[in-house]
Amino acid sequence: MVSVEDLTYREKLVLLALYEVFDGGPAGVKKLAPVVHMDKTKVSRALNALEEKGLVEFEHMEGRRLTEKGEELAEEVATEMELPKDEGPYVCSDCGRRYKHLRLKCAVCGGEIEVDKDHPKAAKAEWNLERARMGLL
Ligand SMILES: [Zn+2]
Repeated sequence: MVSVEDLTYREKLVLLALYEVFDGGPAGVKKLAPVVHMDKTKVSRALNALEEKGLVEFEHMEGRRLTEKGEELAEEVATEMELPKDEGPYVCSDCGRRYKHLRLKCAVCGGEIEVDKDHPKAAKAEWNLERARMGLL
């Protein structure tokens, strides 16, 4: 039985994008690549791996869609990546997802990360984000 631990980070992102952005699909490499910020070869590889694991299936001309099992795991991945509302100073400017740890792009939608100015650790987070943007981290 395939579980979340059997998935690579890239496979998780593609699975999650299919689930959250494309409503389970179908979606092809061209549509998925800009969402997950990976090049098409990597998306294609992730999709093939997901298919081998029985989590997506091919739909002629349309791309891949989630299988029932794929949907189940996507839900688990979503929970795994989610943080409670009041946690984490880093916020996606597009989808509003919060992160405790510094990142430049949202793992889900690829949106720019901003710092929540009202967060108690805003000053430090701002500084870290600034340094990361300059490539110092
Ligand atoms: Zn986002």
